[in-house]
Amino acid sequence: MKNTEIQTFSSIKNILKAASKISIVPHENPDGDAIGSALGLGQALKNMGKEVAVIPVNDYPDFLKWFSADVPVLVYERDKKSAKSALFESDVLICVDFNEEKRAGHLEKMIHSFGKTKILIDHHPYPTDFCHHTVSETQYSSTAELVFDVLAKVEMTSFIDKRAAEALYTGILTDTGGFSHNTSKNTFRVVSELLEYDIETDKIQSSVFHNFSPDRMKLLGYSLNDKMVVFPEYRAAYISLTKDELKQFNFKPGDTEGFVNYPLSINNIVFSALFIEKDEYVKASFRSKGNFPANAFSRDNFNGGGHLNAAGGESFLNFEETIKKFTQLLPQYKHQLLDTII
Ligand code: 5GP
Ligand code: MN
Repeated sequence: MKNTEIQTFSSIKNILKAASKISIVPHENPDGDAIGSALGLGQALKNMGKEVAVIPVNDYPDFLKWFSADVPVLVYERDKKSAKSALFESDVLICVDFNEEKRAGHLEKMIHSFGKTKILIDHHPYPTDFCHHTVSETQYSSTAELVFDVLAKVEMTSFIDKRAAEALYTGILTDTGGFSHNTSKNTFRVVSELLEYDIETDKIQSSVFHNFSPDRMKLLGYSLNDKMVVFPEYRAAYISLTKDELKQFNFKPGDTEGFVNYPLSINNIVFSALFIEKDEYVKASFRSKGNFPANAFSRDNFNGGGHLNAAGGESFLNFEETIKKFTQLLPQYKHQLLDTII
């Protein structure tokens, strides 16, 4: 691991050994890596005899609700009291798959005021210094891949079981889009070690990728047919969905997961955006190919950030103005888009 000193791992090892109650918090709108790394780590810690709770601020998609991990998931928005007391009763708080407190949504203030030890395990660039011990390794495909190696560094690999392995595998599978991007030799080494636990990869594949509702498939069809706008002259495209459109297709959390990737399947498109109208803001997602920096684009224009090729942000303009802003920005990025090497 490039960025983390050996001392950090020995501190983490001692802290985890001494702790009896541990909370694990993933980022808001948890995805497969957020939940997979939290449950994988949580199961290993539970197998060590710790009392563990995973505390996401809001609910996660149904296609991630088949895990066999035996760790309670206390969704803050569903039961604020239990989530809050579990969090503050724990000896250690571990944040996974995010790089700044703000990414935990309404849990931000609680994370900030948590007075005992805080540990961060994450693979996003530009981590802020909000935890006592930080393992931030951006070369990793996923936090789940990183959790596996962290468990080895703190000599706790023996606590990984089939349930933990299944969760970690799912984190890697989803954050790499089914092993299609950001993979490395290390990713496949970790995957091959996870396969030693006899996880059912075919079952996981179909649970994650072939488990959609008819409404979601129709929303995808509608988004591509009626709502995708392509700008071949800028090698860019976007999809936008209003609250009313989502309602028409009985939107459930997670239904638009992955939509932003589709325009990148178009010949010569290197930059794709998805705008989703929420109650108080517009959620933006960006994906790119090659060296076009989706994270810098999001940071500079949409209050966001993320990875080079996968980023997100928020707009507080209204829906139409947000889209107008995006389309008016494209000429400024024309040279960079046309020069992008894929
Ligand atoms: P998604 O488009 O799936 O919501 O997010 C893709 C990636 O962008 C995430 O893994 C995360 O790194 C980053 N991201 C998403 N939304 C935000 C945001 O509002 N702020 C920041 N800093 N990063 C975000
Ligand atoms: Mn991740």
